[in-house]
Amino acid sequence: MSATNLSDHLHPALNKRLDILRGVGPRMLPKLQKLGLKTIEDALYHLPIRYEDRRQFKTINQLTDNQQEVFVGSVLASGETVTTRSRRRIYEVIVGDKTGKISLKWFRYRNPWLQKRFPVGQKAVFIGEIKRFAAIREIHHPDSELINSDQDLQQLLQSDPLSFGRILPVYALTEGLTQKQARKVWHQLIEENAAYAPSCIPANIQQKYHLMTVPEAMQQVHWPDDSVSLDDLEKGRDKARYSLVFDEFFYLELGLALKRAGVQLEEGIAFKFTHKYTIPLNKILPFKLTDAQRRVLGEIKHDMMAPHPMHRLLQGDVGSGKTLVALMAALIAIENQAQVAVVAPTEILAEQHYRTFSPCLEKLGLKAGLLLGGMPVAAKREALQQIAQGKIDLVVGTHAVLQEGVEFHRLGLGIVDEQHRFGVRQRSLLKHKGSNPDMLVMTATPIPRTLSMTLYGDLSVSVIDQLPPGRKPITTRRFSSSQREQAYRLIHQELQQGRQAYVVYPLVEESEKSDLQAATGAAESFAKDIFPEFNVGLLHGQMKTAEKDAVMNSFRHGDVQLLVATTVIEVGVDVPNATVMMIEHADRFGLSQLHQLRGRVGRGAEKSYCLLIPSEHYSEDAARRLRVMVETEDGFRIAEADLEIRGPGDFLGTRQAGLPDFRVASLLKDIRILESARQEAFAYVQKTNQLTTKEAEPVKRELLRRWGGRLELAVIG
Ligand code: ADP
Ligand code: MG
Repeated sequence: MSATNLSDHLHPALNKRLDILRGVGPRMLPKLQKLGLKTIEDALYHLPIRYEDRRQFKTINQLTDNQQEVFVGSVLASGETVTTRSRRRIYEVIVGDKTGKISLKWFRYRNPWLQKRFPVGQKAVFIGEIKRFAAIREIHHPDSELINSDQDLQQLLQSDPLSFGRILPVYALTEGLTQKQARKVWHQLIEENAAYAPSCIPANIQQKYHLMTVPEAMQQVHWPDDSVSLDDLEKGRDKARYSLVFDEFFYLELGLALKRAGVQLEEGIAFKFTHKYTIPLNKILPFKLTDAQRRVLGEIKHDMMAPHPMHRLLQGDVGSGKTLVALMAALIAIENQAQVAVVAPTEILAEQHYRTFSPCLEKLGLKAGLLLGGMPVAAKREALQQIAQGKIDLVVGTHAVLQEGVEFHRLGLGIVDEQHRFGVRQRSLLKHKGSNPDMLVMTATPIPRTLSMTLYGDLSVSVIDQLPPGRKPITTRRFSSSQREQAYRLIHQELQQGRQAYVVYPLVEESEKSDLQAATGAAESFAKDIFPEFNVGLLHGQMKTAEKDAVMNSFRHGDVQLLVATTVIEVGVDVPNATVMMIEHADRFGLSQLHQLRGRVGRGAEKSYCLLIPSEHYSEDAARRLRVMVETEDGFRIAEADLEIRGPGDFLGTRQAGLPDFRVASLLKDIRILESARQEAFAYVQKTNQLTTKEAEPVKRELLRRWGGRLELAVIG
């Protein structure tokens, strides 16, 4: 078997600027650049957003409502009118043929241009979407091509083959570019350059899936010939697009497969089980592990025993009990005289983990340490020393742990909590603090499984799909600002019964003064006017570490009953006695953020509430987010809704996750293709011994080109 390889290396033409094309001059170039198109290759991958069928013209009685149609007609009447209601000027042209009439309308226009263009009797081809208002059909702002009286239709069709007689591509464009200009540019582009697009899918895979080569597919996607059905094109189901999507996914998965294989080749620590600490811990725990916790722990143990480093993602909805699983894994490492590092995205969360871990370790005769950026210098120096000497068994900290100068005696396990807050790079930094330590990364962002497979293709995934017993559903309600009193009454009731509550304000930038003022002001009015009989605390990101600590402690101990906070408490905070989460300006939060915030309550045996108070005006998307929150508590469904509202690129933050961007594929639409491509890519990596065989050379070269430096980083990471 050999790889189909039309171009052994990237053809230099692909990297050229777009002004090598005829007709792309100093006026057109900036407009194309505005579309993000710099090189010939960029433009090749700028695919049509839809198509227009100009193979035949319809008669006016054949035009279908709500469809883009092309027809020929003669001007019967032409002139300016004024609408009765809005008193807007519009230009209207009535055109007709033997079968009927239709009205064309322009709302913003330059007269006398239209008047000159459409005198009575003028014949033209018209293109536009048919709208129907009761019995009247019209087209707004149609495109048109004039037909001279001495010209017959056949002549026109032949004189302009880029506009007529075929299915035409329609591109996403910026202002000042017309579709007609674009068609010229892309026609030339394809004719002259499509052949250079690298196509390196192994031949047997190409045959199995009936794939076109990339040059063939490029040709067909931009300028489909008559063999392609318009319906398939419009639904994105044509073979050409399939081939390009497959190509794109294949290289994505190839990279992930290689990363995975790289990990498996590395030598790691094969931990042994002595149960020296894990069994005693089980005895001091006030509860039993859930079945789900037990199962994922088994998966983690299996990885830890293997002589290769573990790379595992632990996914579990908020409150599912990931921390305990992490602690058990930590103890296994410590039983093998290795150290453990736990990294969390915020000081508050790091602090909280320290509070959870430290007493447990102490009871087992072990030592936990805390490392934060904002610690006093002396304390930090002391901690660093103890870490380096191996006196501290488990270190909990923020980014501070990843800094230079932090050295471990023997790091055996790195744990990253709330992994979505970190990038691939941080994971890699932590890993390098030891020699091939095991890595466990945890996330509550419930990513639909097919997507997590893509996003974390180099990680094995464990899912905690069960909450600890006794949790009651959280009631979520939306109040308008004028109903705020009702929300306060509910909070009051809860506080009176000895429970606690959060009130959260958005803070986009920690430096945004007005947001900070909102939170500070609210804390004051809660303390003075609204709930004078209760203790109110304030927590925000600009406070010093020690101050934050003090407030968080008082809340944990119940001395503070109402905590007004900015989003610093978003992730991980665990105070089971808190039963109300009130979110101000809820429209300004993303869905996963809202879900995380809501997850701060409902952690004990009492019934809990989440109260959403949106701003006075908010977008339709925000309204959808709030509706989803009220409707469901299921993290999985929330993630899917989030994905729908935001679109996959934004949802995944592909850049930050270290994945290449998709040029053709859509993670929403093309999941099935992704699965095939993944299977083939993983098999290919195995079969070619990590792409080291001769036949795999061009594939490997193309892979490196597409992934750039990211692949290497990932392999090491
Ligand atoms: P998350 O997965 O969101 O990080 P945590 O680890 O903070 O969740 O756990 C949430 C709460 O559930 C904590 O108060 C924890 O003590 C409790 N918990 C964890 N496991 C169990 C269990 N098996 N049974 C009962 N409660 C548990
Ligand atoms: Mg957690």
